[in-house]
Amino acid sequence: IPATLEEAAQAGRVCMDVKKDGQFCYHIYLEPDFAKLPEAVEPLNIKERKLCIVADSTTAELYGAELKEILKETCTYVSMFVFPAGEVNKTLNTVRDLYEHLILEKFDRKDMLVALGGGVVGDLTGFAAATYLRGIGFIQIPTTLLSQVDSSIGGKTGVDFDAYKNMVGAFHMPRLVYMNLNVLKTLPDRQFSCGMGEIIKHGLIQDSDYLEKLSTYQREIREKNYAALLWMVAGSCKVKRHVVEEDPTEQGIRAWLNFGHTIGHSVEKLKDFTLCHGECVAIGCAAAAWMSWKRELISEKEKEAAEQLLLDYQLPVRVKGLKPEDIVKTTKLDKKMDAGKVKFVLLKKIGEAFVTRDVEDEELLRASRYVCG
Ligand code: NAD
Ligand code: MG
Repeated sequence: IPATLEEAAQAGRVCMDVKKDGQFCYHIYLEPDFAKLPEAVEPLNIKERKLCIVADSTTAELYGAELKEILKETCTYVSMFVFPAGEVNKTLNTVRDLYEHLILEKFDRKDMLVALGGGVVGDLTGFAAATYLRGIGFIQIPTTLLSQVDSSIGGKTGVDFDAYKNMVGAFHMPRLVYMNLNVLKTLPDRQFSCGMGEIIKHGLIQDSDYLEKLSTYQREIREKNYAALLWMVAGSCKVKRHVVEEDPTEQGIRAWLNFGHTIGHSVEKLKDFTLCHGECVAIGCAAAAWMSWKRELISEKEKEAAEQLLLDYQLPVRVKGLKPEDIVKTTKLDKKMDAGKVKFVLLKKIGEAFVTRDVEDEELLRASRYVCG
């Protein structure tokens, strides 16, 4: 995994493997195009099998035809299922339509799904794969920054139910994750920033050197320079992989990934999902960094630097129009509540997090005031 921009430029591509219970589970490919896909799917033994590409309206239009052409060489038949883009469609209704499509196309146990899109497509496809015929294989081809560094790794799949996000789901590991980093060039800037929220979070909880370089390589990253993207996405996947390998079912350190998410989720809800997830995470990170500073775990300079980095990537660190009291109330209703106490992730230092249940209402209120200020 390239540690610098120069190493990334030289490597040109990265392949890592993810283990589960100490055993090899799947590869993650980071590539400049789709050309290596046939090689990457080779070990999956799909020559005599069918594939169904699942995409949303946007990713189907942009990359559907190209992907279909390439996959045709690798199996007997490639089908395509497209649904309208947007979180509102991450539902059981869409899954139902997909099941219907698979039944019509006579998909059996050994055929596979291919998720082409962001976290919405990946979560929904993974869930359909986990449940169709009690579970079939699926391949992740994540196309947003968020899905490349976060949702495509770790095997969490699912859909929203009524007003509840990710209420119905399953753990189901992909058979392969293949990223074409150049697809990020068509991604809208705001979506790119949202991914940056999780990336900066990864640096804060696990890797201070990586965090520092996110600042140094800012220009290259914002210009979507290929080597910079490769360095950055690889570094972030490494953090996510480490955390999920250590803790596949979220008993321990996987909770670190919730850094910035406790207050972040409350802001997301209170703002009626008008801010994107990464933006709310950024606000939550600012709040959690503030708490870590108040507890004298990180310095004021480090807290300021974290906020500045978020701002540099066009992310907010304050929220307008909310009452701090409402943030406290909503946070206490959150599912991360544990025996009446909010489970909070704070920083022990830059690059290392810890979980605590000793956050009292007063501290929560003051942190909320800070980000509402
Ligand atoms: P998304 O999938 O809705 O994608 C955002 C938008 O970008 C969509 O309109 C999509 O069509 C478009 N798009 C995708 N790739 C593009 C490209 N290359 N060029 C142009 N446009 C493109 O949203 P997201 O932010 O990728 O994912 C959010 C979802 O991920 C949420 O539902 C969230 O719950 C889920 N999630 C899951 C996990 C997990 O562990 N499973 C982790 C984090 C988030
Ligand atoms: Mg998140």
